[in-house]
Amino acid sequence: MRANCWMGKKKLSVEHVPDPQILNARDAIVKITATTICGSDLHLYNGFMPTMQKGDILGHEFMGEVVELGKAVKNLKVGDRVVVPFCIACGNCESCQLGNFSCCENSNPTGWMPEKLMGHATCGAFGYSHLTGGFAGGQAEYVRVPYADFGPLKVPSTLTDEQVLFLSDIFPTGYMGAENCEITPRKVVAVWGAGPVGQLAIASARLLGAERIIAIDRFPYRLRLALDKAGATDVINYEQENVQEALLELTGGRGPDACIDCVGLEAHGTGLQYAYDSTKQKLQLQQDRPIAVREAILACRSGGIVSIMGVYAGFVDKFPLGSLMNRGLTIRTGQCHVHRYMKPLLERIVRGEIDPSFVVSHHMNLDDTPKGYDLFMHKQDDVMKIILRS
Ligand SMILES: [Zn+2]
Ligand SMILES: [Zn+2]
Repeated sequence: MRANCWMGKKKLSVEHVPDPQILNARDAIVKITATTICGSDLHLYNGFMPTMQKGDILGHEFMGEVVELGKAVKNLKVGDRVVVPFCIACGNCESCQLGNFSCCENSNPTGWMPEKLMGHATCGAFGYSHLTGGFAGGQAEYVRVPYADFGPLKVPSTLTDEQVLFLSDIFPTGYMGAENCEITPRKVVAVWGAGPVGQLAIASARLLGAERIIAIDRFPYRLRLALDKAGATDVINYEQENVQEALLELTGGRGPDACIDCVGLEAHGTGLQYAYDSTKQKLQLQQDRPIAVREAILACRSGGIVSIMGVYAGFVDKFPLGSLMNRGLTIRTGQCHVHRYMKPLLERIVRGEIDPSFVVSHHMNLDDTPKGYDLFMHKQDDVMKIILRS
């Protein structure tokens, strides 16, 4: 089959590789009908995620048709159309029983690596380095799906791929980011990053009834989409305005009730802070550029909630712990527990409450995936989500 392979920092190639095989009784093989590139794929592309190996197949957001099943998978049949959650969860361990599926204790065969870096193992994930198990990803023609009797969600034929594909990651991730904020009708929520996850966090905050939703980004086309389609009420372009001052102005001097970071470890910024973080990251003195999360903490009203959905890899400097502690902020974060949200969010799509396909901007052939990364990375041609098909 053909698959998009990581060949080194900023080097991708669509290669012919062996077809995946059933390895365990709970596996399925899925023929991919649609896949896409995620902002967090750029962290792999740009070499910020350790433990990548030449030839690793990328992609953790995909859907398709079941073509083969292990003996123990009874809930699916060949021909079923499914969306697959990016995090791999067994459904049986203590964390899965608690609903914390991205903390599954069984799905990461290389859990000893995150244990050393993070204290405990994380779950396995598709196409996301050997820290998360080294599983082949879904930017390919076929993929092996472990624990297929638990993860994949069957989707109705009445909905298009574009409407349901994002249940694999960015819709549940954006939704969890908003749910973390304990939104009630009078709440003001600020969202850092108006990329695809940010757009769906904004749309989710709207679904949950926030009164005011402020989108923060530097690309006018992304801020426009946030206003026109996602449901933002206000926007701040951080290259034109001071974020802290603009947020105080918009909230009567109090700050937003909740702040969602949808940016993560490759944050951009202005001035000295950005230069400091970039230099330290280049020298590998810190893994992440925590600009958005710092701003979110300082901007949040006292007693408010900071919801971190952007991906971080390791350790950071100049973290405003004093502000966090003295002003009684709550931090909520985590890789999304996708399995928890897929079904209820599918129901919202079926009921017509939301159509996440508004973030789709491009369609490409799987063979052009490396071009897609380049386009997405450089934010050219008003790119948001690129749908890839073989
Ligand atoms: Zn993703
Ligand atoms: Zn588990």
